Amino acid sequence: MRYHQPPRNTLVGNVKKNYTGSCHCGKVQFEVVLDLDHLRVCDCSLCRKRGALNHRVEDSELHISTPLEELTLYQWHTKTAKDYFCPTCGILPFRRPRTAPDLWTVNVRCLDGVDLESIAVENVYGSRLD
Ligand SMILES: [Zn+2]
Repeated sequence: MRYHQPPRNTLVGNVKKNYTGSCHCGKVQFEVVLDLDHLRVCDCSLCRKRGALNHRVEDSELHISTPLEELTLYQWHTKTAKDYFCPTCGILPFRRPRTAPDLWTVNVRCLDGVDLESIAVENVYGSRLD
């Protein structure tokens, strides 16, 4: 079974930084404050197809400059999660996750200046939810 999770990188742990982020075309702009000590890779049917590298943050840590009404909302299955994507370029920079709908899950691939290969990956198994 693949329950193994790599140890979090304690050298970079507990360091919250500001990052800017955007979709591909630039219509969706946001800033986020987070400690990139890990990335989450989820195997649910949506995350698999979009290849996201996820990180969850509180409401107060995500500042979305583009009005949410200008994004397209996609809801599926239980319709609890809220997947927001850019109607122009189709990139999905953040979502409200089903298991924690008060939080945001940011797609770290959309952040500027992040060395993705240096961050520990944690596997999560959204496919096992009903
Ligand atoms: Zn876009």
